[in-house]
Amino acid sequence: MSVTDTNGTSHDLGSEILDVLLVGAGFAGLFLLRSLRGAGFKVKVVDSAAGLGGIWHWNCYPGARVDTDAPMYEFSAAELWKDWTWCDRFPSGPELRQYFEHVDRVWDLSRDVMLNTRVTAARFEENGRYWNVTTNQASSIRARFVVLCTGFASKPYIPSIPGLEDFQGTCVHTAQWPQGGLDLRGKNVSVIGTGASGVQVTQEASKVAKSVTVFQRTPILALPMQQKRLDDAGQKKAKEEYEQRYARRRETFAGLDFDFIHQGALEVSDAKRNEIYEDLWAKGGFNFWLGTFHDVLMELKANRTAYDFWRDKTRARIKDPVLKERLAPSEPPHPFGVKRPSLEQHYFEAFNLDHVHLVDVREAPIERAGPLGLTAGGKLHKADVIVMATGFDAVTGGLTAIDIQGATGQTLRQHWSDGVRTYLGVACNGFPNLIMSYGPQSPSGFVNGPTSAEIQGEWIANLLKELRAKGLTRIEPTRSSEVEWNEIVETLTAGTLFPLADSWYMGANIPGKKRQLLNFPGGMPDYIRRCNEALANNFSGFTVQ
Ligand code: FAD
Repeated sequence: MSVTDTNGTSHDLGSEILDVLLVGAGFAGLFLLRSLRGAGFKVKVVDSAAGLGGIWHWNCYPGARVDTDAPMYEFSAAELWKDWTWCDRFPSGPELRQYFEHVDRVWDLSRDVMLNTRVTAARFEENGRYWNVTTNQASSIRARFVVLCTGFASKPYIPSIPGLEDFQGTCVHTAQWPQGGLDLRGKNVSVIGTGASGVQVTQEASKVAKSVTVFQRTPILALPMQQKRLDDAGQKKAKEEYEQRYARRRETFAGLDFDFIHQGALEVSDAKRNEIYEDLWAKGGFNFWLGTFHDVLMELKANRTAYDFWRDKTRARIKDPVLKERLAPSEPPHPFGVKRPSLEQHYFEAFNLDHVHLVDVREAPIERAGPLGLTAGGKLHKADVIVMATGFDAVTGGLTAIDIQGATGQTLRQHWSDGVRTYLGVACNGFPNLIMSYGPQSPSGFVNGPTSAEIQGEWIANLLKELRAKGLTRIEPTRSSEVEWNEIVETLTAGTLFPLADSWYMGANIPGKKRQLLNFPGGMPDYIRRCNEALANNFSGFTVQ
């Protein structure tokens, strides 16, 4: 069987069945390609994108930039970092795309990647024990195991706004930005949404657009990035400590080289707490979120100290008293940090500019779109470009978008119709030989992407190697192990403040989606310990044949 991607490259899969098909060519899929190929598996990657890099291929909107700093947001393999230097502490989307080209060169990946190939359906053939995978290309692909490395952000969410089809300008979701670019210079730009992408687009648009109107539902509790340029000499020196820093990121809650402080926010004096908050603030990045007192994400009183610090710092940057209250309210809109706090560089200052406006859609809801723009609270806001910075049907959307039919004929969509349930965040009862990476009920959304890709990728590779060594060709979690995993996730969730916000973490951004914490909130080390136990105990929680 030969599959040709739309780049014209032909991939001869012979008459054989692949050992493993990986869906997705981001950090997770590429790490697994290298590991499994090295272990002698016959493995291929498919991706609907035209290039490697996962979300960094799709999210090419102006200002796209990672919120995790270098060298945390990269693979830990020395052969990759020894010859690689970054320009910025928090690299831009274009720089990350160059990084993936570098990874491709060093690891020689592309020869096993089929681009422009979207998986539309997959059916498990019990008799032959393989997955029959349908793509948008002519041929289907057969594989013993399928690993879905589809990330948590492969299904953009676009809210339904009456009349949008009549809009005469350009309307674009940030994750579907034209690869050739879209010039915002001199344009009237409306941005819907104030998550990470909304913040980044607003910052860039404010520099070049004629006007920028931001439609805000919930104020973003964004943190100062503290961006800086990196030079070669500094990075050469820093590389002496890379090994230790990468080792450290395996030990921390969020897969970074820092962790929560082993102290409660109220266990220290006000002065001491303030000093610590000032220090975390100055460090920038996610330090104020994931390097703070351990109880900030768990106890309301502790959380309030963080919110108040954030609020006062932020309000000092905004001139207009009405905007101060809208962007950084006196009372928290939700506990600090239980919605993802994106990083910003001059987001709040942008609202001090005369051509940047804020529409609070809680007071003035968007009623409709028309040829000239959006009408909210009875007022028309004229636009040439409407940017949908409206996020994703996160974590589950990219998986349920594929018509996956398991051993009993049930689809994954049906399996999760009453809420997501998995075992270890990697597999589902009724879906043998189907593995998810960065999936629901794994730590994904709380963990640095490359760390998760490596740690979970190693575990998945070990699982497949172990099955092969034991001559086993079928693995499926039991129903009861799925129920137990759900209980573990729910119990851990109950000890946190995450349920108190309407966030994508809780599935609350998508109308009709069940409200539940979609990720494992116990941190990466606890998670991988539980996964390793299952492997060490002869695949406990799974049935194997
Ligand atoms: P992805 O990078 O999401 O790749 C998934 C791939 O699967 C995509 O290329 C997609 O095309 C492909 N795919 C999906 N469905 C199909 C299908 N049916 N058929 C074929 N191919 C398919 N994480 C951090 O740790 N720090 C950050 O600062 C950070 N910033 C982010 C900013 C944005 C704008 C977004 C969207 C996410 C961000 N993330 C961040 C999370 C990010 O997803 C991870 O860091 C990392 O990219 C996950 O890698 P992955 O390989 O698991 O998935």
